[in-house]
Amino acid sequence: GNKSRLKAIQEITSAKPFETEMTQPLKKIWACDVFGLHQMEESLSKSAFKAIKKTVQSGAVLEPSTADIVAAAMKDWAMSKGAKFFSHIFYPMTNATAEKHDGFIITNSDGTCITEFTGSLLIKGEPDGSSFPNGSLRMTNAARGYTAWDPTSPPYMMHTANGAVLMIPSVFMSWTGEALDKKIPLLRSNSAMDSAAQKVLKLMGETDIATLNSSCGAEQEYFLIDENFANARPDLLLAGRTLFGAPLSKGQQFDDHYFGAIPERVQVFMQDFEDKLYRLGIPAKTHHNEVAPGQFEIAPYFESANVAADHQQLLMTMMKITAKKHGFLCLLHEKPFAGINGSGKHVNWSVGNATQGNLLDPGHTPHENLNFLLFCGAVIRGVHKFGPLLRAVIASAANDHRLGANEAPPAILSVYLGTQLEKVFDDIKTGALHVPTSGGLMDLGLSQILQFERDPGDRNRTSPFAFTGNRFEFRAVGSSQSVSGPLVAMNTMLADSLEWIAGKLEAALSNNSNETEAVFAVLKELMEEHGNVIFGGDGYSPEWHKTAVEERGLQNIPTTADALPVLKTQEVIDLFSRTGVFTPLELASRFEVYAEQYVLSIEVEAKLVIEMATTMIFPAAISYLSSIASTGLTLEYSPAGAVAETASAMMASVEQLSEAIALDHFDTIEEHMNFLAKDVCGLMLDARASADKLETLVADDLWPLPKYREMLFIK
Ligand code: ADP
Ligand code: MG
Repeated sequence: GNKSRLKAIQEITSAKPFETEMTQPLKKIWACDVFGLHQMEESLSKSAFKAIKKTVQSGAVLEPSTADIVAAAMKDWAMSKGAKFFSHIFYPMTNATAEKHDGFIITNSDGTCITEFTGSLLIKGEPDGSSFPNGSLRMTNAARGYTAWDPTSPPYMMHTANGAVLMIPSVFMSWTGEALDKKIPLLRSNSAMDSAAQKVLKLMGETDIATLNSSCGAEQEYFLIDENFANARPDLLLAGRTLFGAPLSKGQQFDDHYFGAIPERVQVFMQDFEDKLYRLGIPAKTHHNEVAPGQFEIAPYFESANVAADHQQLLMTMMKITAKKHGFLCLLHEKPFAGINGSGKHVNWSVGNATQGNLLDPGHTPHENLNFLLFCGAVIRGVHKFGPLLRAVIASAANDHRLGANEAPPAILSVYLGTQLEKVFDDIKTGALHVPTSGGLMDLGLSQILQFERDPGDRNRTSPFAFTGNRFEFRAVGSSQSVSGPLVAMNTMLADSLEWIAGKLEAALSNNSNETEAVFAVLKELMEEHGNVIFGGDGYSPEWHKTAVEERGLQNIPTTADALPVLKTQEVIDLFSRTGVFTPLELASRFEVYAEQYVLSIEVEAKLVIEMATTMIFPAAISYLSSIASTGLTLEYSPAGAVAETASAMMASVEQLSEAIALDHFDTIEEHMNFLAKDVCGLMLDARASADKLETLVADDLWPLPKYREMLFIK
């Protein structure tokens, strides 16, 4: 109880930065734990290397004999670095990763041992894995699940204090080939986007078009809390957020923390952590303090979406492990502290290839501009048509606390383009930006784009989906979430829009209008139907919440209970089947898994509220009351009445909460989610309100839980 809190305060005041080895020169450590093309070239014959390179770069089928050679080289490399085990690592529908380790060892009949790693072991694995959520996919089919190596994401070494494991990024599927993971849909969405983009670029007269790939750079926000405090808070340990805690008094929130000097203990943690990332080939690029006290951000340089998604998961894992080593608990929860800025993950996203470059870069010539306008228009259309889907893929109990709370993007999906670009699209819509009939291709309106600032000063932080010079930034994603879901949704909506554009463009071009006229005609139609989603104003303002819904027809989807059913709408089912990203069965399983996760996480929290209120907070109030009573004094001022009353109110809420979570009369999971979102969350807040009031009444030395000011400020 209060003893652990007081001990934590003592320990932390004398805490010193964790002693680590000096950080190593970048050249020496960069990607040293990755078996990438570079290592392959060093350890393979020319012909084997040529074959695997083709597989890695363009997905060509790998001959079994080559796979054997690659596997043997991989094993030698891994064993020379201390590995005795390997594992396929895969990405189930939870936001976590999963792995099953197997030894390289084989014993002989004479008791000696050798090691072996064949191509087929590299390529295919069969973890039992039946306990991963699969949304009925494996009950209706065979129970088996398979992992298969994804050669486009390089294997790497995971070190512990006294050993290492070779990790092989993999997909995870059922016996009948249904995707049970987050990687397969991402790869599929990328090829859907590629094939639609190819059509548009061909129509635009491009002849040499390399495979298109989406890119992702994710900015990760997180909190660090001293583990002594964390250990005294069951809510932080089990739910990842504080379920109780009186808010900081006004003014404390800011404390010059944002971009301020990083405390030394944290700085040492960051250096250690980033060296680990460099070894793994993850290009850590910026780090700084975030808005809230105790909050920080790390952003690696962008990579291809598939690799970035794997690296993002690995980054979260490494961050938690390294924080622990430094005596911190790393909180990735979207809202660990009420009343304090929450954590998001901005997903920077673009598409491009080796021949046309970044298609969301306005470029330097009018022709590049036309491609840019089409791709940018395609995104606008996508967000308008599938805004609710974008809301659904970032839905979680935790992210609900953050979205729409005037610190994070609103739960209404709109697009921010910046003043200049917004004007260009407006002019296209009204026809003000007309096309010259001969020569001088586009040197009127589009010159605006040519001068477009890379990093416009008028950043709009209130927008959930913003154009930032050469990419879009999806800002509503939660800090603990996998980036795969958002990337899948963005790639797929883009594929759908590019298909639409290709159809329209083909028709317009066959009417023998010139290319520029055709592009403008298509974009005009697109803007007339979808221009409503563009919004450059204050996304936090109450007026926007009103106009967005009433005048623009956009949807405000406040909770996960409202958002997840979007996955069951015919529009979304059709989108994913037509693009080949999810079969209806696969999509249905996603709904089921995410809905179940929502229910579970609210139930865990509700049970913790009941337990902590009953066994920690109520007893503290009683101790205080009895200590007041034991003085035997009749004081003019006594908090006893207020304490007794508040403690009773808290226990009344707790009782109602216990009854509420015991109910199980729901016909559908939608009904259950709604009940949790409204009734159960409401009761948890009631109990918390009383508890937080008690925190301000009960004697400080009797209070059992570390307080906000302690957790957030003592460094
Ligand atoms: P800010 O905080 O100003 O938004 P950061 O520098 O923290 O910017 O993060 C920007 C992120 O966007 C980085 O991860 C960066 O690599 C990424 N990024 C830049 N260009 C692209 C691109 N073409 N595609 C995807 N991500 C990109
Ligand atoms: Mg950003």
